[in-house]
Amino acid sequence: MAKFDALVIGAGIAGSTIAHALSARGVKVGVIEQGKIACGASGAAGAFLSPMMGKGALVDFVNNALDFSLSFYEQIAADLLVKKGALRFPKSNETIEEFKRDTDLIKIPFERRDNAVFFPNAGAIDAIKLCARLLQNCAVFEGAKADRPRYKNGEWNVGEFQAPILVVSIGAYHSILPDWWLKTRGVWGERLRVKPIKQIEQNYMGDIAISATFQGGEAAIGATHKRGAIDWQIDYGAIGALTNKAAKLLEHIKDAKFIDILGGMRPSSSDYIPIAGLFPNAHKTLRDFPDIPNGRQIAAEAFSYYHNLYVFGAHGARGFVTAPYTARALALAIVDGAKSAAMFEPSRFILRVFRRSAEAFNALEQFNGLEY
Ligand SMILES: Cc1cc2nc3c(=O)[nH]c(=O)nc-3n(C[C@H](O)[C@H](O)[C@H](O)COP(=O)(O)OP(=O)(O)OC[C@H]3O[C@@H](n4cnc5c(N)ncnc54)[C@H](O)[C@@H]3O)c2cc1C
Repeated sequence: MAKFDALVIGAGIAGSTIAHALSARGVKVGVIEQGKIACGASGAAGAFLSPMMGKGALVDFVNNALDFSLSFYEQIAADLLVKKGALRFPKSNETIEEFKRDTDLIKIPFERRDNAVFFPNAGAIDAIKLCARLLQNCAVFEGAKADRPRYKNGEWNVGEFQAPILVVSIGAYHSILPDWWLKTRGVWGERLRVKPIKQIEQNYMGDIAISATFQGGEAAIGATHKRGAIDWQIDYGAIGALTNKAAKLLEHIKDAKFIDILGGMRPSSSDYIPIAGLFPNAHKTLRDFPDIPNGRQIAAEAFSYYHNLYVFGAHGARGFVTAPYTARALALAIVDGAKSAAMFEPSRFILRVFRRSAEAFNALEQFNGLEY
């Protein structure tokens, strides 16, 4: 039996950032990964680090998270980061007016350039090397597929691994928790690795994105977005489609040498905000408050929670922007007992989902909690 202070399941950017944030606070972390480090969505990502335009809580969150991530990466992985800014264009002719309106709302540093805007604080990072760097001080077990965790005598047991604290960050993969009510969904995407004929000095972002050239001369072109996808297979037709779109942003990219096409399933929540916090026992909460389906409001503190079981994920199309910031908040909640931000709490979905009585009724009938 391998014993740790905390176990993290999944070594994508979510698992890697929370494992890093915990180990930086003196926690002995074991990471259980069914494949290799960053073999899921994280390894497929172009890992662009760019701001969001528009207004509202989501935009403010993403842009704060971007600021945080850029300084964090500069500290721990400056050699993997190309921070050369991003030139952003409207996604299509139909969105030019919306783009102009959004430009007037921008609260972060930017410059107007003809029909585009330039954000100096933007970049891209080498995704796979970054995840490996983050996990340097953790024990990583590759090729270890976790099954449903069990809680016994104050410890979470996952196969041969044991710890009092467990964080599940398995992206859009088959769930190992009774969490169907979280309603995370996958958005499949492909992106290209290419070697351009000339150095690219900044990131280009429109309908799709082209990265500046990384050390070694490679660049990323991405990505496709296939909502409601159930097929986890690469569509090789995306090579031509992405290259043609990229050439509209930067002509010489059509002459770049093709290296590879990668695919992955982005894990997304229904409100596009990441999920980070204690995992509620929905089954017990509904037993305690059987009138939730009739519209009863209860405070998050009144819910039942599994002891020291946390979920971390649903970073959608921006995991490399949002994970470091959210992981820090979660690590503070786990280690220091800090109150985590309500906007990330998994419990926010319980009232939303179970207020529809038919679903709640079926859940009570069909869904058993964890062995506990
Ligand atoms: C094509 C593409 C382009 C993208 N471009 C960008 C971008 O430019 N910028 C950006 O910020 N984000 C981008 N993203 C989004 C970003 O990649 C995701 O938000 C992020 O990777 C999600 O990380 P994750 O760790 O939650 O999931 P994943 O990376 O999928 O990691 C989950 C891990 O858990 C493991 N796992 C699953 N089940 C088990 C189990 N039972 N036992 C053990 N291990 C398990 C998996 O093998 C996997 O390694 C892109 C995504 C794609 C697909």
